[in-house]
Parts: sequence; structure tokens; C-alpha cells
Amino acid sequence: CGIVGYIGKKQASNILIEGLKKLEYRGYDSAGIAVLDNDILVYKQPGKVVNLEESIDEKVVGKTIGIAHTRWATHGEPTVENAHPHKSNNQEIVLVHNGIIENYKFLKDELLDHGFTFLGQTDTEVLVNYIQYIQDKDQSTIDVAVRKALQNVNGAYALAIIDKKEPNKMVVTRKGSPLAIGLTGTNDEFYVASDAIPIIEHTQSLVYLNDNDVVVLERGQQMKVTDIYGVEKQYKVKTLDLNL
Ligand code: GLU
Repeated sequence: CGIVGYIGKKQASNILIEGLKKLEYRGYDSAGIAVLDNDILVYKQPGKVVNLEESIDEKVVGKTIGIAHTRWATHGEPTVENAHPHKSNNQEIVLVHNGIIENYKFLKDELLDHGFTFLGQTDTEVLVNYIQYIQDKDQSTIDVAVRKALQNVNGAYALAIIDKKEPNKMVVTRKGSPLAIGLTGTNDEFYVASDAIPIIEHTQSLVYLNDNDVVVLERGQQMKVTDIYGVEKQYKVKTLDLNL
């Protein structure tokens, strides 16, 4: 299973699909991508990345921010509904997740009490709606809502999240599942992946995230890392030497 993300100037879908192919060796049962337009466009399929690739249409042309996922099902069958990316009920937040949310049943009951509905059985769909729930209550930005939501989440995760209200921003975070960021030397383009392999053809400057890092990638801004309480954290940039 794996995650790929891109925010920049190039067409996101190509980078995402090529990235997913490079993560296929990790094993998976379904694959999907989301790119941001006026609305969030989601494409997902059980089976191979090539099936997903065939399902993508011309609407992705010119879209320069997106997230992608290969799923290894832990909660719910490998169906289209359970494949990632998952959108929140208000259709505004979209998220991919590797790992397991251990207290998802507790959170789901709380959300059901507040009228949220679910299309599938995954722990992930609970998480994206829990983030919406927190954001609705606080009227906060996506990164603030993610940090606050994670304070009430138990489990392991690597996450990439986009909010259509903030189309120039991606939030990524991890705890117990790997995730790396590719920096390009400009603040206009960032790569995200579960390991270095999908990134190195684009850039050799990598940041391997630590547990509980919450990263904001925003066009025109330097990458910013905090913990789940918003306290700023330092990060190390590693330059891979591919000639070795
Ligand atoms: N627990 C999530 C699910 O079953 C994510 C699985 C994964 O790591 O791919 O959908």
C-alpha cells in the first residue's frame, strides 16, 4: 500500500499515476486518485493501477494538485466505495490513508449521532468526516482541524489531505506509517510519497517525516512542520546522491 501527493505547476494526475506504479511492489488491492478542480475529482478502482489509469478522463487536464493511494484493505472489502481517496460528507475535504484508526468505532458513533452518513466500511471514511466535524465546529483552516482531530485519534497512519476551500494547500502527517516529502528548491512545488522511489526522478532533496509531524505544503510558502499541538518542529533535508 502507498501514498503519493503532488502540488505544483505540472499536471498532477500523471505524476500521481506514475508514482503509484512505483509503489506497486508494496502490495495493494485497490487504487485511487483525487485532483482538485472547482470540485474534487475522485477516480478509484479495485484491482491494478492500470485499471485506475484507464478510468481517468480529460477532466484531470491542467489540475496541478492531487493525492493518490494504493489500498491494502484492513476495514471493509476491496470495493470501489472502500477505495481511497475518501471525501467528507460536505464534499470539501478529501483524504488518503495508510494504516489503521483504532478508535474509529467510537468516533463513528459520535458522527452518526451528529447526522453523518457513510458510503463504505473503512476506518478512513470515519477520519475524513471527523476532520470535517471538527472544522465545522471551529470554523478553522484544514491544518488546524487536522491537528485537533489527531489529538483524539489512536492508531497508525500516513495521511495526505486537501480541502477545496484552501486549494493551494496540502496537509500531510504520519504516525507509524512512513512518508517522505520531496523539496524542489522553490516553494511552488512539492512531492509526497510513502518512500523515496516515486520522488527521486523529480528531486533528490528529501525530508523523511517523523512520527507526529504535521506538515503544511502551501504554494509560495516554505514547508512548515509542527506537532499535533501546533508546536513548530525542525526538519532535516537529506540530499540523495544517486551517482553512488
Ligand atoms: N485502514 C484503511 C482501509 O482499510 C487503510 C488501509 C491501507 O493502509 O491501505 O481502507
